[in-house]
Amino acid sequence: MSIPRPQAERDMASACAGRDGWGDPAPPAHIFGNTWYVGTCGITTLLVQTPDGLVLLDGGIPQAASLVLDNVRKLGFPVKAIRWILVSHEHFDHAGAVADLQRLTGAKVIAGPNQAAMLRSGKPHPADPQAPLLLKEPMKPIKVAKTQAHGTALVAGGVSFTAWANPAHAPGSTSWTWRQCQGTECRTIAYADSTSTISADGYRFVNNPERSSAVRKGLAIIAALPCDIIITPHPSASNLFPRLSGSAPLVNPDACATYAATASQRFSERLVRETDMPR
Ligand SMILES: [Zn+2]
Repeated sequence: MSIPRPQAERDMASACAGRDGWGDPAPPAHIFGNTWYVGTCGITTLLVQTPDGLVLLDGGIPQAASLVLDNVRKLGFPVKAIRWILVSHEHFDHAGAVADLQRLTGAKVIAGPNQAAMLRSGKPHPADPQAPLLLKEPMKPIKVAKTQAHGTALVAGGVSFTAWANPAHAPGSTSWTWRQCQGTECRTIAYADSTSTISADGYRFVNNPERSSAVRKGLAIIAALPCDIIITPHPSASNLFPRLSGSAPLVNPDACATYAATASQRFSERLVRETDMPR
């Protein structure tokens, strides 16, 4: 059973009102069960307490490492209790702080099914539509302890974190799901990866059929995730703060399907625009 910690913010919408920068400090907030928000106003980092130590999901931009650790301390946890770090996708705004977080905590990084090479090198996958932009933001190399295969779970302190490869936004895009209980209510949290299909200038999905089919496949996997409580790497993409503040429902088992359907519609619109564009 979870004990909401007094240091946790109850009104995240007002705590981050007017600030959504990736490096804008946010207070820690309770989400559900033993899962906490410890990220910034613009980028999600999650903390899950288990009987065997803490699991961190994502780290934010490189400059956010100290903000994340401050939030962990504010909740009363020692930062060395962070034993595992998981990543949504291999871009600097989510994984950029992971190398420093790993160094400062001694945590093991468990890569998603198709992430290890990019996390180890700090460089984007060559098939990433944003690759030319990402090459300008290289990440410090991360030591990867192991790769979690698609559909299998890292069991940490009795909590199973299932990895779902959903290569829609990036080749290494991964969603993670785990079960949490609060009193007698148990729910599955889905940390559903980003779904935007943005790219460097001049990139055309219509000329990259393999990437386009990976997008469709990834969105189909997100649509079917076990998903009572959706959380996304950019908190606004799942309206997270109003939900944490109680002005929108936190629990919605259709949220992942809706999230994927919206992205799928946007992707279809992009393909139409690309086809109409002069070459
Ligand atoms: Zn990204």
